[in-house]
Amino acid sequence: MSTRREFIQSVPVASAAFAVAGNLALEASHALAQSAAPAAGHFHPKGKAPSKFTLDALKQAQATLPFSDTRDIEEQKRGLIAPMPELKIMADSGHVAWDMERFKFLDAQDQFDSIHPSLLRQSKLNNNYGLYEVIPGIYQVRGFDLSDITFIRGKTGWIVFDPLVSREVVRAAWKLFQQHVGQGLPVSAVIYSHTHGDHWGGVRGIVDETDVRSGKIPIIAPIDFMDFTVAENVYAGNAMNRRLFFQYGLLLPASPYGFVGQGLGQGISAGATGLIAPTRYVEKPIEEFEVDGLNMIFQNTPNTEAPREMNTYIPSMKALWMAENVTATPHNIYTLRGAQVRDPLGWSKYIGEALYRFGQEAEVMFASHHWPRWGNDRIQEVLRGQRDLYAHMNNQVLHLANQGVTINEIHNVYEVPKSLQDKWYCRGYHGSPQHNSRGVIQRYLGFWDCNPTTLIPLSPKDSAPLYVEMMGGADKIMARGRTLHDEGRYLHAQEIVNKLVLAEPQNQAAKDLLADIFEQLGYQQENPGLRNSYLGAAYELRSGIPQGETASSSSPDVVRAMSTELFLNFLAIRMDSRKAEGLRFTMNFVTPDNGEKFIVELENATLTNIKGFQAEKADLTLTINRSDLEQTMIRAKTLEAQIADGTAKVQGDVSVLQKLAATMVDFDPRFEIMPGTKSRSDVVAHADPYEAVPRPTIAE
Ligand SMILES: [Zn+2]
Repeated sequence: MSTRREFIQSVPVASAAFAVAGNLALEASHALAQSAAPAAGHFHPKGKAPSKFTLDALKQAQATLPFSDTRDIEEQKRGLIAPMPELKIMADSGHVAWDMERFKFLDAQDQFDSIHPSLLRQSKLNNNYGLYEVIPGIYQVRGFDLSDITFIRGKTGWIVFDPLVSREVVRAAWKLFQQHVGQGLPVSAVIYSHTHGDHWGGVRGIVDETDVRSGKIPIIAPIDFMDFTVAENVYAGNAMNRRLFFQYGLLLPASPYGFVGQGLGQGISAGATGLIAPTRYVEKPIEEFEVDGLNMIFQNTPNTEAPREMNTYIPSMKALWMAENVTATPHNIYTLRGAQVRDPLGWSKYIGEALYRFGQEAEVMFASHHWPRWGNDRIQEVLRGQRDLYAHMNNQVLHLANQGVTINEIHNVYEVPKSLQDKWYCRGYHGSPQHNSRGVIQRYLGFWDCNPTTLIPLSPKDSAPLYVEMMGGADKIMARGRTLHDEGRYLHAQEIVNKLVLAEPQNQAAKDLLADIFEQLGYQQENPGLRNSYLGAAYELRSGIPQGETASSSSPDVVRAMSTELFLNFLAIRMDSRKAEGLRFTMNFVTPDNGEKFIVELENATLTNIKGFQAEKADLTLTINRSDLEQTMIRAKTLEAQIADGTAKVQGDVSVLQKLAATMVDFDPRFEIMPGTKSRSDVVAHADPYEAVPRPTIAE
């Protein structure tokens, strides 16, 4: 069970408590303008209704968006075979793994005055839940997770593309599929389109590992798949998981005032995650081979939406699978949870290649999120639009950067061309033009805007008191902040109220005002990641970071996917170097069962490792099979115990291991983001010093 899931489970309790607390009395002292009144039906007692400025912004959007283009709505409905009768899917461990009931409110009204009309449209489109025919022989179950699962008829059975996040939802999808279409035929192959967790995590719900090992069911994936499944979120994993609370709105209840879907899908399932390693890799840029008697052409597209990803074309069906490279939205170039910035130019070129290699004759295009596109004209239109969207962002942002527009201005300057703004599949339901354009500058020029003031600036909390003093103190800032808020100048208001919150983290009135400002900004966003980030920050400012049990993920599959080198690199990150001053050792580290050897050295308060080498004069040689080491990585058995019972063999100075263990630090999965939001409770039980459990990989 991951920290994040534990956390999510604790949320309904918290929000229910708010709901019954009512929402009138608490705000009596805050009786200001019309916009400051608490909202009836809001999940939080301090929650506000949209202001007239927010209503105007949403009305304006409504009037300019291309609502006359209803093709998405037709495509989304097309081919429905059976809706899923049950709205909840239970996890094997007893909690709710998937819940579509909570999104029923979306279909109850045509409009909500607290949801951007474009985002609402997307969330309604994602509110499908059932089994669909793409074309005869290709079927999708949609709305059981963030991603879609696809079944394609092979000679002897069903080829599965991208088995979702967790096994329980995959099992439910397979059951629904078998009830209507599957004819009792088995799974004959599995294809993972890319390395993100929503495209393989549920594989154990549909495949028995012994059938994979025996060669009966091949699992096919792009080259280096295993190297990148966990690597992307190990080093900064704790920070990414914390930031997901904002991007994915994990503390927000589903509500017109809270979470309304994630753009790519309605949310992420919370069942059991697993991973079975692929048995065949697509190695060359283009490879053609048969999968269960069906000829497929694979196009590797590394460093696009994921570090490793591939599109697939099935010539006999004229069917083009675009993985997650082309969906019904521009994707993240920069992702708010944090990740290395992606390459929009390369991404655009791979789409261009698919357009000319397969898109000239394809009659259906489908992907791992959203709904298919039918007819060659439509396919070409979408491929061309998305090709140009990524290329434009790359080129025009750099064009502007070359004229001096900085990372701190670009989001206010860059605009998607009008012709693309009018296409629904170019609207930012995952990547927004704002955060993506900043990402492009980050990729090429980095954080510095070239003003020396921002070279080595004070930390925000250290500069804020001076601002507060110079602005005349808290009362003046509060008064001006309220005026700006009441005038609908939310971006101005946040500038000064944020300074006050930074300077006075315990000033709840200031935090509440900043929350009110964020809330209006959140309601105004088309992009769910931006909306959730504003609303998530508002939630934490009002209520603090909720407490809850935290536990480590113990999925042995995911631990197995972590290379020993990655494990050692991560230990070096867990080490607090300030505790390692003056320590020095050289260790030979050997894992005989996979034939790996490392030198691990601590020197200059820095832990390093180099693979393939052994030192002649090591202080310690530690020998342990990789399979046994995994028990320590998941905290099932300490390294001490491994040594005590002879599973691990040591030669030399064993005290080296204790000294190293004493430098290891546990990361707090609920570190504070907004000032003054941290509860006073301390972190959980200590992790084993040599634990290195990668969190379940992040779904995207
Ligand atoms: Zn995905």
